[in-house]
This record gives sequence, C-alpha cells and structure tokens, in this order.
Amino acid sequence: MRRLSIKIRITLWFAILILLLSAIAFSLILMINNTVLQSDVRDTLLHIVTYNSYEIEYQDHINDEELSDGDQYLRLNNGFLEIDDDFLTFFSEVHTALYDQEGQLLYGETIETEEPLPFADGVTRTYEVRGERYYLYDCRVQDPNLSSLWLRGAISARKGTTLLSRMVKLSLYLLPLLSLLTILGGYLLARRALRPVEEIRHSADSIREGKDLKQRIPSSDANDELHHLSLSFNSMFDRLEDAFASERRFTQDASHELRTPLAVIRTECEYALDRPRTSEEYVESLQVIDRQSRRMNALVSDLLFSARARRMHPADFSSVPFSAIVSDACTTGIRLQEKNITLTCSVEPNITVRGNADMLQRIVLNLISNAYRYGKPDGTILVSLYKTDGAVILSVKDDGIGISAEHLPHLFERFYRADVSRSSEGSGLGLHLVREIAELHQGEVSVTSVVGIGSEFIVRLPLG
Ligand code: ADP
Repeated sequence: MRRLSIKIRITLWFAILILLLSAIAFSLILMINNTVLQSDVRDTLLHIVTYNSYEIEYQDHINDEELSDGDQYLRLNNGFLEIDDDFLTFFSEVHTALYDQEGQLLYGETIETEEPLPFADGVTRTYEVRGERYYLYDCRVQDPNLSSLWLRGAISARKGTTLLSRMVKLSLYLLPLLSLLTILGGYLLARRALRPVEEIRHSADSIREGKDLKQRIPSSDANDELHHLSLSFNSMFDRLEDAFASERRFTQDASHELRTPLAVIRTECEYALDRPRTSEEYVESLQVIDRQSRRMNALVSDLLFSARARRMHPADFSSVPFSAIVSDACTTGIRLQEKNITLTCSVEPNITVRGNADMLQRIVLNLISNAYRYGKPDGTILVSLYKTDGAVILSVKDDGIGISAEHLPHLFERFYRADVSRSSEGSGLGLHLVREIAELHQGEVSVTSVVGIGSEFIVRLPLG
C-alpha cells in the first residue's frame, strides 16, 4: 500500500468506502422497500374493499324511474340488491367479490380458495392458491339490511415484489454507475489537488541538481494548504539562492584576497633570487614577504574563525563573564602602546551574557585593534561596558580618522575597506566577524562616525 502514490491511495480508499456505502444502501433499499411496498399493497386492498362495501344497498322494490344506467340489481329474498356502478370488481389488481352468509358467490370476481375459508371481519390474511401468495381481506356490507353479506378482496402479494424488483434492478444499474462516477471524480480531484506537490518536487529536483536556482513553483489563486506550502518553498528557494550566491561571492573574494599577497611574495622572491643582491636589499625583500605572510595569516585565521562561528549553535552557549573578557582585552590593548594612544576602560563589574567566550573576546579585540589602527597618534580610546533596559552595551570609541558617510552602510560587509592605505595589514573581515558573532548571540552592532573627529562602535547583546 505504501508503495502506491498518494493519488492512488486516496482513490482506493474512496472506492472502497463508496462500494461499502453502496452495498449498505442497496441492502437498506431492499429491506425498507419490501416492508413499505407490502404494507402499501395491503393498504390498497383494505381501501378498495372498504370502498366497495358502501356501494351495495338493499331495495324493497325498484321503481322504473329509479333505474339508473350502470347500476346492477340482484334479487335477494323479497327485495333487490342494488350494486352501484362505482363498485370496483377489479381495480388496482384487487379482485372484490360479494358473498352471502353461506359463502355463495353473489357478484364480482374472486380468487378460488381450495377449501371454503370462513369470513373474518376486518382482518388481512395471506393465503396460498396454486403456489401463489395472496392477501385476503373480508368485511361486511355497510347497509344495515345487508349485514349478513360479505365482501372479500384479494390481491396477489407478487404485485409488491414486481414493483420492488423494478426498483432493485434500477438500483443495480444506478448504484455501480454512480459509484464509478464518484470514484472517477475522486481520482481527478485528487490528481488536480496534488498537482502542486508534483510541481514542488520538480522544482526541488531542478534545484538539487543545480540546474536552475531561479526556478520557482507557480503559485495558484487558491488560498489552500498547498498554496501556502508553495509560498514557503519559494521563500526557502529565495534564501537558498541568496546563500549560494553569497557563498560564490565569498569564494571569489577570498581567493582574490589570497592571490594578492601571494603574487607580492612571488614577485619579491623572484626579485631577490634573480641575481646577487646587497644585504639591505635582501632585508627589504624579507620584510615585504613578512608583511604579506602576516596578512595571509590574518586572513586565513579570520576565515577559519568565521567558518567556526557559522557552525556554532546557540544550544552550545554557556554563561560567559563578559566584564572580565572586556577588562582583559583592554589590558592587552594598553600593553600594545601603539601611537602613544591612551586607552581608558570603564567596565561595570559582573556582567554575564549567554554565549561563547572565544567569540565574544574576538568582538572586543577586533574593535580595540581597529581603534588603534585607525586612531590618531597621541589620541584616546574609550572602552565601556554597561547594562541598560535588559541589554548589555559594549562601546568602543576613538578620536581617530573617522569614516565618511558613504562607507558606513557597507562597513560590515566582507572585505570592505574604507581606508585602503591603513587597512593593508587587516584581513578586511574584522567588522564582518563582529556582526556575525553579534547576530549569533541575538545581538546587533552599529556605528556612528564623523571624518576627522572619530568613530564609535556599539554592540548590543541580550543580558545572560
Ligand atoms: P580591516 O582588516 O581592513 O581593518 P575591518 O573589517 O576591521 O577590516 O574594517 C573595515 C573597514 O572599516 C576598514 O578598512 C576601515 O576603513 C574601516 N574602519 C574600521 N574601524 C574603524 C575605525 N575605528 N575608525 C575608522 N575606520 C574604521
């Protein structure tokens, strides 16, 4: 069963149910109709015989003017029996006959019983004559002068069954036909309803095979579950396309970033080995190679760090003493003693956040080293950490070169450099990593800066 497609499974289930319902309906029709029809036959019999019992009167004598067309007159004792012309001898398959007290047939049509059957007033009985079942109904004639006379009606019980068999035959054709139509309709409906699933599968296959990342599932006008599923898949495909594009951009950018220092190293080696050089020239070449290899080292270590950050999951986080991390980073910064810059640290004690200590340390170190790198000689750096409105704020403020407004929106992009001359030692990934780590910790980072006055980077993290 599980190997069959959903379409076939739905249709099969539908078919079994419909056939079962049809069988139940057919049996019910058979049962109910038989009962209803038989009682209907008996009602007809009773009705006609009772009706006839009012159509017979006793007359002492008959005047010529009273003789009317159609009425029958039978001699009885000293008078006459007047049988109205409305008397129904054979109507609606009912035979009605008039008998005297001794059971002698006086008038009408009858079913001959093999032995004389005593009359029973107002009772319906079944009686078998030559293998055929009849309903019999007896009643006295209503005229008080004729109460000794009997009327007996008879109708074949087959009349009901003939009608019944016609209905049964009709349902025998109709029910399978209707079932077939329902099953076919169910199959077509299931096929139509599941068509978007086919399209989703087709699109997913194309994307899996890397054929066409731009392909989307055409969304229908119907506001049903499959329409919503298509929308969800399309938005997932959008994100996949973005992710693939950004991965491709990243690989291109990273190889470009690595190619530049490698090319410089190669050129410098070729220059030094081309012919004998003075010791000063060798030292100069080695210094260039050293700078470029440091740059490559920084780039590779930042790339690895970024890959680690992306693999990290908030479930691996623990409570991290952020105050201690920021204080330690300040101490490391102060020891640098670069450009005679004064670093001041204002840290609110005992602040903890939920996260990864290495990653959080990286945020602080990156911002402090940027403040040194882009700071003015004899300038100042202020690092502060405090709590506000359930958040932790880390601010790194410098009075360095500042950043012009056109660069600010791109500052956190990979390999974006506002000041190319000074950032030659950096990987171009520092601020991008800061944002990546902040977002991994459900936080955010922002910057305000004025050229020539300085910059302030603010990281906001949830309190742990
Ligand atoms: P880099 O390795 O080039 O420093 P970052 O991602 O750390 O890369 O920084 C991106 C760019 O942002 C830098 O090239 C620099 O132009 C600018 N920048 C970063 N921090 C500062 C700062 N404190 N003052 C001025 N400019 C800055």
